[in-house]
Amino acid sequence: MSSKNDWEEDIVRKILAAFKAPKTLDQHMCSILGYAGSSQAAPLLVEGLRRMEYRGYDSAGVATSFMDRILVKKGVGRVFEVNNAVNLDSLPGDVGIGHTRWATHGKVNEANAHPHLSSSNGIAIVHNGIIDNYLELKRELSLSGYTFRSETDSEVIANLLQRNYDTTRDFKKSMITTLSQLKGKYAFIAISKDGGLAAARFQEPLMIGVGKHGYFASSDILGFVRNTDEVVYLDNGQFAMLSSKAISISDFEGNPTPHQITKISKEFADADKSDYVHYTLKEIYEQPITILRAGGMTTRELDWLAASIVRSKNVYITGSGTSFNAALIGKYLFSKYARIKIESLISSETQFSPVYFDSNSILIALSQSGESADVLETANIAKDSGAEVISITNVMTSSLAHMSSISVSLNCGPEIGVAATKSFTSQLAILYKLTNKLCGVLDAPDFNQISNNISKLLLNYSYIQQIASELKNVSDIYVLGNGIHQYVAMEASLKLKELSYIHAESFPGGELKHGPLALIDSNAYVVVINPGDSTYASMSTATHEVKARGAKVIGISNIPNEIYDYWMPLPTVDEAFYPLIEIVPLQLLAYYSAIERNANPDYPRNLAKSVTVK
Ligand code: GLU
Repeated sequence: MSSKNDWEEDIVRKILAAFKAPKTLDQHMCSILGYAGSSQAAPLLVEGLRRMEYRGYDSAGVATSFMDRILVKKGVGRVFEVNNAVNLDSLPGDVGIGHTRWATHGKVNEANAHPHLSSSNGIAIVHNGIIDNYLELKRELSLSGYTFRSETDSEVIANLLQRNYDTTRDFKKSMITTLSQLKGKYAFIAISKDGGLAAARFQEPLMIGVGKHGYFASSDILGFVRNTDEVVYLDNGQFAMLSSKAISISDFEGNPTPHQITKISKEFADADKSDYVHYTLKEIYEQPITILRAGGMTTRELDWLAASIVRSKNVYITGSGTSFNAALIGKYLFSKYARIKIESLISSETQFSPVYFDSNSILIALSQSGESADVLETANIAKDSGAEVISITNVMTSSLAHMSSISVSLNCGPEIGVAATKSFTSQLAILYKLTNKLCGVLDAPDFNQISNNISKLLLNYSYIQQIASELKNVSDIYVLGNGIHQYVAMEASLKLKELSYIHAESFPGGELKHGPLALIDSNAYVVVINPGDSTYASMSTATHEVKARGAKVIGISNIPNEIYDYWMPLPTVDEAFYPLIEIVPLQLLAYYSAIERNANPDYPRNLAKSVTVK
């Protein structure tokens, strides 16, 4: 007889199977990738860039070194579009670099697309990040006769390297000088026309793939995972010189640094096995399983974590976007159930906030990728002031995990969809486990039961699809929640914005009468998160207030009520655990609204998965 978990896995498998469709995921992207080996570089680069497409997108390009020349092809659009137009993958040569751009400096056009050549065409670079002193460098290089073809900050790297090469005639020495002159955050890969390849990392992700037929330098494992499962993670302030046969890694002064080859876990290799309609949908449907896997801490680790939190006088929790919404729920749980005084910080605001980190402080940092620049900045500020940093992240090899005294794994497998879904519920699952350890008064969450409830909710998708079709031409949605549900309302409105591009806002129900009610009329759609708990009476009042002004109401509750124009039923659980469950139908609503409005839910416009720039 199959166990309960088998049953749950089985139901999720069935649901996923129902969504299987031919692969249609030829989308856009943004990342850096380099290859030096005995195979043709360009086809490997194009394939690797396509696998990293979730990171961002607007233009793409490839450069190879071939017979003492550098050849470049690039254009605006997704990798497959640029490749169809100019055959990126036909460039000859066994050393090359590729890029997908998420523009920060300069318009999205062919001239600004990477790779960028030095003015004498001897060096080409691809860059992820921002060079803060590019204007100063550009002025200086222009005075020495180096010319520029783009508006990007990145192009200075090519000319700077070229100038340093012109004086030293040594690629490694020119890297060392260049690295001492650049200010900002960057990962870049450079090739020289005689076949050299160099890759440097400073506060942006970069790793080396060690293959049988050559080396890769890449922003992400997905750039080379099909060719090798061996990886060397570069640290900040390191650069690598690569050839088809050898690799040498040094610090920015050129001192050799030892390196370790790690095996990539199998699940990353599986990242693109899916042939579902969208990654986002697949990831929503994985949640009954992923919440069970979250954390994976030993009792000792959990004890240790709880002891560190209890010992600290000042407890802070931080995140960006969805992770910040999870942080707010963590703050609520810690304060209400474990009676711990805790402050939440929006990571991008920490630098402007009156925060008093010291050696009696602890920071709990949440980031799916562990590379979010804002979260890393907060963690650095905390660490520099003597505070302890613990993190909750999905990538245990990330910069954030590295700098934390302990890092708890979301363990939910790669999340490719740009909008966070399963990582949110995994973050919550870990925060519940921690709260429970801290206080013991919160009933031990029965995650099997919650997982079961989520599976059942997911089966209700056709009704949610129907509601989404109603939202097709709606311009504003309001999401209301009281108490712990207000943070779910924030997360739901964020999902609606990201995926469907419908203007969505969230409010605690009681705040309506203090202003937002002025916006409500018969064109408004209002989602009320209204489970039968301590918030029920207050949210029911808010529901009547919006209904009286003609709004259409989508009620999400375990109690039916004829006031709802649409009712999304919920199972009954303890008040504290509703967030894990009630977010799921709202994620689906955002997903199907995106489909209805012809938006691609996996790659929302203007957004990137790991925002590694400030
Ligand atoms: N700052 C560079 C640009 O705008 C690189 C941006 C990126 O990371 O893609 O071209």
